[in-house]
Formats: sequence, C-alpha cells, structure tokens
Amino acid sequence: MQFRSTQSNKSLVSFKDAVLHCLPPEGGLYVPASMMDMRQLFLYMDSNTAYPELVATVAPVLLQGELNPFSASRVAESAFNFEPELKQLDERFSILNLYNGPTGIFKDFGIAFLAAVMEELLKNSGRTMVLSASRTDTGVSMARAFYRRQHITSVMLYPSGPIRGIDPATFASNGGNIIPIQIKGTFDDCQRLVMETINDRPFAERYSITTANAINVGRLLPQVFYYLFAFVKIKKYLKGDLLFSVPSGNFGNLIAGLYAWKFGMPVNGFIAAMNANNAIGDFILGKEFKPRPLIATNSPALDVSLPSNYERLVSFYEEAPAVMRNMMFPAAIDDKITEEAMERVWKKYGILLDPHSGVAFAAAERFSASPAFSGHLVILATRHPAKEAELVVKTTGQCIDIPERLKSLRKKTDPIAIIEPQLAALEGAIASCY
Ligand SMILES: *Cc1c(COP(=O)(O)O)cnc(C)c1O
Repeated sequence: MQFRSTQSNKSLVSFKDAVLHCLPPEGGLYVPASMMDMRQLFLYMDSNTAYPELVATVAPVLLQGELNPFSASRVAESAFNFEPELKQLDERFSILNLYNGPTGIFKDFGIAFLAAVMEELLKNSGRTMVLSASRTDTGVSMARAFYRRQHITSVMLYPSGPIRGIDPATFASNGGNIIPIQIKGTFDDCQRLVMETINDRPFAERYSITTANAINVGRLLPQVFYYLFAFVKIKKYLKGDLLFSVPSGNFGNLIAGLYAWKFGMPVNGFIAAMNANNAIGDFILGKEFKPRPLIATNSPALDVSLPSNYERLVSFYEEAPAVMRNMMFPAAIDDKITEEAMERVWKKYGILLDPHSGVAFAAAERFSASPAFSGHLVILATRHPAKEAELVVKTTGQCIDIPERLKSLRKKTDPIAIIEPQLAALEGAIASCY
C-alpha cells in the first residue's frame, strides 16, 4: 500500500517514506492511498487468535513489498508483550480494553508498533532521529518503545513542569538513545517546534528527523489492528449492526477505525464520543465547523478544540461524503453524565471505567436507546481506571489497586537540557547531541 498527502494525490510514497519523513512536501498529512480488501483474512482468524499473531498476519498484507511475514512477526513480537482485551457485557455492549500497555493508555499500541517497525525498516540502511512533543504518559510510552532500538534516537520535548516516569539509565548521556529536553513553554510550544523542525526541510533531511506524534501515519496504522482484533473476537455472535464508540480528542483513534473499514472490516458506524468540547461534531453533521474556546472537563485527553487529524477527517469526507454521513455519529457527553455512566457500568456489570471510557459508554448507551437500533456496540476503553482512582471512588465507592507498572510513572526525572521555545535553540541542541 502506498500513501498520499491529504492535499494532493499526485505523489505516492512508500510506508517507509511516509514514516521517516512524516510530513508530505506538498503539505497536508499522509493517508493510505487506496482501499484494500482483507475480508478473506478475517475468515482465518477467530476468538483464539492472539494479538501478535493477528498483527503478523495483517501487517504484511497491508504493507506488501515492504514488510515480509518474517519481519512482521519480529515486529509484532517485539512490540506487543501486552494485548487488548474484549469483554462482552451483554447482547448490546462489549468493552475493548486498550489499557494493558506500559502506561495504561491506548496510545501504547500505536507507539510500540511504530518503534518496532521503524527499527525493522532501518535494518539495512539509514538511521533516524524521532522528535516528539511529550507529556507524562506519551513520554513514558515513547521512552519505553524506542529504548535500545537500533539506528534510532528519540528526542522528547517536554513543556515546563515536572518530568515523570522515564528512566535516566535510558538517556543518551548514560549510553542509551533517549534524550528528554525541556522547552521553557507549553505543550503547544513543543508541538509547534516539532512541526517547525520537520518543515525546515534541509535541517530535517540532514539529521533524518521524523516524529512519533500522531501526525505520523505509522502510529495511526497500527491502531487498525485492535479494531480487527475486536471484530474477529465477536464476529461469531454478531447479529445486526456493529458500531464502535470511540472517545475522541484528536480523532486518531477514530480515523484508525475508518481505515479498518476501508481495509474491509464489516462495520456500520462509529460514534465520535466527545465531552463538552465537541465543536467538531458540527463538521461531522455537515454544518460549518467553528472551533470554540476549550472547557476543562473530567476527561482532559478529549479537551481539544481543533483535532490534529482534522485534515484526515476532511479527506475521508471528500472521498465518500455520503458514506461518511451515514457512518459517523457525534455525541456530546458532559461531566455529570460521564460520572453517572461510570457508576451505572459498575452497578450493572461490575466493571470500572475511567472517565474517557465513561464518555464512550454514555454515548453508546444513548445511541442504543434509539428504537431504530438493533445490533452490537463496542466501547473503546482508552485509559486504565486506576489512573483516575479518585473519580472512580467518587462515582462507584470502589478503591482500585494501582498496578506496579503504573506506580513507577510518578517518579520525577531531570531533563538532559532546558532550552528557550525557539527553533534556533532546538536545532542547536539537536546538532550538539547528534
Ligand atoms: C489521547 C486519548 C484519547 C483521544 O484519542 P484521539 O486519538 O486523540 O482521539 C482518548 N482517551 C485517552 C485516555 C487518551 O489518552
């Protein structure tokens, strides 16, 4: 499969180029250039298929000519020592737990695969510097995934404030390949600097710079795998429609679901579950989209005013407007309804959800209450409930044991350097640590 820019379909590039250069020279973001029909593959997989096995089966078909089955197995085995988990609650609902990775957040799935596949793609030649804007959880996820990967250095830009959960033994200053740099500024400054560096083409070329942020299509593509995993787990029981309810902020997760559909997964729709920050819902419904000021909520990963995947969403609508209008259902769930949903899920099913997953659950309940609906809804649980222990106690009365792996995320570390939020300062730092 080849990749094209959201803004033009003139030049097609390989997966390797899309991953290692990450922003198309003509502007926009990379997206898969073609449909694919993998339905045949689904016949051979069922509820016994292990996750690495599914990945090793699907990835070489998607990336034919670039990732052979042996390489794909190696990537899958080295990326995934954790798996998604599908729990069927009743006729109507299942929950797809995506929080079993090292940081307890679904983003581990995309990041782990990206790091492993990059190493594989660079096996015979080349090297890369992965420059990413980081916060506590994604930073830890990246540091774990990239540590000791051959031919790769991971530079992580942190905003002002404490840096937690990463291990100094993995830093370049101690013989590793991880370089945390603190930017005197906000997370937005970090993101802007990543874009500016990559758009400084001669510089990015010289130091072979790419990113592990979600603009890299190599992080989105592997998120397709867990949708397929959910599908093959439940296909035997399915009667009627199948929908996924996805807690959506930057819309990477939901876009990956759309790719899964594009690659042949039989699915009837996606609920874009949002909190009070839901202006993009207007766009989904075909109205004009006007970003609104942000409101702080109890599901902060969904507090986004302009999704970074907006361009990818627009390009889906341009390709197939009618299909999209019938497949995407925005839902706005406020904090109170989220908390009530968390309580209800506990009482009814004995399951604890974090608030992001609670938003998706409430949205699914609302959708399924429509008399026209008959079918099954899979709710994506994107964050371990232990990460929101206080709200879980408040809504359900339950104390959660915090797993060991999540406890270590709290430990503070110093960055290797602290710099001004300017491109020149960052480029200087990169040149000196190359
Ligand atoms: C990042 C994140 C989301 C939103 O995912 P997008 O791909 O940005 O839409 C949802 N839930 C949690 C817990 C997250 O960390």
